[in-house]
Amino acid sequence: MNPFFNPAFLFRIGKGYMFDISRLHRLSDNKLRSLQNKQLRKMIKRAFTVPMYREIYKKEGIEKQDIQTISDLEKLPIITKEDFAQHKPNELIPSNKTINDFVKVSTSGTTGKSLSIYVDMYEIVMGLFGYLRTINDYNISWRKDKISIIGDFAPHTAETGYVKRGLLPNTMFGNVFKTIQWLDTNSKPEEVMADLEKFRPQFIGGYTGMLGHLAVLKIQGYGKHVQPKLIASTGALLDPNLKKFIEETFETKVFEVYGATETGPIAYQCANAGVYHIMSDLLHLEFIDEIGKPVPSKNGGHLLVTKLFGGGTPILRYNAINDIVAPLYEPHQCNVSGDLIFKIYGRDKIRLFRKDGKIVLASSLSSIFSRLLYELKTSKIREMKVIQKNLDEIEIQVVIDEDLRDIGPSINEIFQVFEKGFKEKFGNTVSVSCHEVKKVNRDEPRIISNVDPSTLKITGYV
Ligand SMILES: [Zn+2]
Repeated sequence: MNPFFNPAFLFRIGKGYMFDISRLHRLSDNKLRSLQNKQLRKMIKRAFTVPMYREIYKKEGIEKQDIQTISDLEKLPIITKEDFAQHKPNELIPSNKTINDFVKVSTSGTTGKSLSIYVDMYEIVMGLFGYLRTINDYNISWRKDKISIIGDFAPHTAETGYVKRGLLPNTMFGNVFKTIQWLDTNSKPEEVMADLEKFRPQFIGGYTGMLGHLAVLKIQGYGKHVQPKLIASTGALLDPNLKKFIEETFETKVFEVYGATETGPIAYQCANAGVYHIMSDLLHLEFIDEIGKPVPSKNGGHLLVTKLFGGGTPILRYNAINDIVAPLYEPHQCNVSGDLIFKIYGRDKIRLFRKDGKIVLASSLSSIFSRLLYELKTSKIREMKVIQKNLDEIEIQVVIDEDLRDIGPSINEIFQVFEKGFKEKFGNTVSVSCHEVKKVNRDEPRIISNVDPSTLKITGYV
């Protein structure tokens, strides 16, 4: 049965619709903590009905009643991508349910093997509310203002699972969200811009790369009536120069929303400061070092996520988001309650190495690529791949958009920007070879290093 026709479900959603969206504003830290503890006990109880978790916890000798509060979490083993890979789909959901009760969402394969989890309708709607409430803090009303969301609607992605297979097929919900326009980030930026021009949204949420391309188009005279009051960027870290470029081009403010396929939205940038507010009513984060100990405030650590809602695959002390993130434990003057993130360094698994033993994360490279947008004002590079062959040699493959080949700066100028940028990061002696390819393999990581880190004395991050 379609859960949207189920009165009990509608009542639950109705409550979410009315209250949850502003929960982080209403709750004191103490009340939020007790909500977290209550939700955690619920999730633990559910995990014991899920074969994978039951098996892992039994092996570790963990009983349901061992976990009463968030501070008990550290008693639980860390759940990895391998744990998921070793279990069949029906072992990832409560044993009294079937796969057909859920929507399957898969993580993208960019950092390795893809992984599938199962979510229920309530999770889908709550995830969307989590996203929408971020704009409330920026004085945009998700009920009155027009909203354009540029999602990744490739068949395997979370958005497709969450939105197309979950929400949109239902006409009633299409109606509730009639002020929302859904666009696909896999479309050409020109098409996305044309749709935005027709809809004229007050808010645009999209991936960093697409937003950069749209800004380039805007400068070229496209999208005259695209004048959002606010833009949210997700999916990649926003380089400060690129952020400035998008803000100036659209004459608006840009903020970041941080999330992951497995969890939905995780945190968003505070309207009054650079820090990020964790959606502590929806999930709890831990930040650990190499040996599993919590890192101090403002220090980068590996992220562990515990999701505090949903009836599908539980996410408890899950380490496979693979981001390096620094918490903030000092107080922050603000009317939003919950925990804080000081800095998001980005994907941990995508890393290159420098001769001096410093790790160069993908986020650090994005500051080179974004120069094409804000310096050269071109979006003719449609795809690219970086291969670090050894400590002295870097190869860059690019796919050029044929429609734009003869417009704007030459390919040679683009290659010079890359070469300069990589030499700044890796040192002047590094050889950087750039060349054109017809296409790049989408199933492989876009950034690959053939350097064996065990031959280096690793001294930290660039
Ligand atoms: Zn704040």
